[in-house]
Amino acid sequence: MTKSKFDTLSIHAGYDPKDHRFASSVPIYQTAAFGLENTETADKIVTGKLAGRYDYSRDGNPTVRVFEDRIAALDGGVDAVAVGSGMAAISYTILNVAENGGRIIAPRNIYGSSLDEFRTFFPKFGIDFDFVDDINDFKTVKDLIGEDTKAIYVESVANPSTEIADLEKLAEIAHAACIPLIVDNTFPTPYLLRPFEHGADITVYSSTKGINGHGNVISGLVVDHGTFDWNNPKFPQFSELEFTLGDEDSHKQ
Ligand SMILES: *Cc1c(COP(=O)(O)O)cnc(C)c1O
Repeated sequence: MTKSKFDTLSIHAGYDPKDHRFASSVPIYQTAAFGLENTETADKIVTGKLAGRYDYSRDGNPTVRVFEDRIAALDGGVDAVAVGSGMAAISYTILNVAENGGRIIAPRNIYGSSLDEFRTFFPKFGIDFDFVDDINDFKTVKDLIGEDTKAIYVESVANPSTEIADLEKLAEIAHAACIPLIVDNTFPTPYLLRPFEHGADITVYSSTKGINGHGNVISGLVVDHGTFDWNNPKFPQFSELEFTLGDEDSHKQ
């Protein structure tokens, strides 16, 4: 399937009809919870050891999974997570990459709600932004990178100015400093531009816009290229062990 071209992927990627009673269209699984059969199977499902099974739609849902896999395939990423809006996708990304606080470099000329939350919301959580007037002023961007800089954030084609970011050059600057380049690729969508082919590490989308194309649903996505080395003292959150309720028995001390 990954060798298929864009148009084929856009209607088939992430969906195997035989897993869904051979339904031609992707069924909408309108359910909050899923049956767990018995305690043994439940344990495997909640600890993520049983592929294709779900317990609760906040954690995962077969319909949403098709959407995530399909966009990851179209964008050339390894995986994606779908959320309730484009702003949620941006917020998830910023809060994850700058856990424990830090600074992020971004252009001033971006989508209004993003600028608003970067200026007024994230600073309350210890995440501050260094804004630049021209994201393609590479010297200024490079000079702004400090010890606590966690990422460079750009819009590939800015909404509404249509200003274009030089992704290759910005990826080079980010990677030299061991930080990721995050790209809001809402405007072109993967159909017109795939930022991972130009060095980006994470893409975010408001799929409310061109990806949906009908203007009838609010949704967002975060896609991972899978190539950034998170084993870096700046990002301990991506390699430290996370203990959840399901781990209790196996990790008793
Ligand atoms: C619309 C938009 C967003 C926000 O998305 P919502 O789905 O409205 O939350 C973020 N970035 C860009 C570039 C947008 O156009």
